[in-house]
Amino acid sequence: MPQATPAEQTAPVTFLADRTVGKLARWLRILGYDTRYLPQLSPAGLVREGRRQGRIILTRNTRIRRFRDAPTFVFIEHDRFRDQLKQVVTAFKLDPVARLLSLCVACNQPLKVADKDSVRAKVPAYTWQTQTTFRRCPRCRRVYWGATHRESILAELRRLGLEGGGNRSPESEDM
Ligand SMILES: [Zn+2]
Repeated sequence: MPQATPAEQTAPVTFLADRTVGKLARWLRILGYDTRYLPQLSPAGLVREGRRQGRIILTRNTRIRRFRDAPTFVFIEHDRFRDQLKQVVTAFKLDPVARLLSLCVACNQPLKVADKDSVRAKVPAYTWQTQTTFRRCPRCRRVYWGATHRESILAELRRLGLEGGGNRSPESEDM
């Protein structure tokens, strides 16, 4: 008896971005979606790496269309990153809040929970006193904490009409 195919992939989609969509790449990382950013790659290099790494290519370079053997790619239609982000979130039905701030924006590495005492010298005194949860990038050692960033990011997502992802409680939808 054949196995039923799952309706949706369980592993989240991963991306590969070139220099034409740098800010988009940064925002996908903020939302917690694994996005390699390789600004130096030509379209041919993108096609090669996209296939090798099993990632979806994001670019505004029209030359990508010449590669008939290209792996999955998304030609980003818009100039403004807000429209770009909306295009990708909609196309892949990404949940914009489920993974929020789980990756290092600089390194694309999953953040690890950091012991509060260990970050005391790394963050402003007020932040250290008022925040309870800190996370650290295992590669660049940058320390992240919640509240302020999260609120401003959620406000940005609300402006985009993206916050909620259909899974939030009604009180968070104040549009
Ligand atoms: Zn980092």
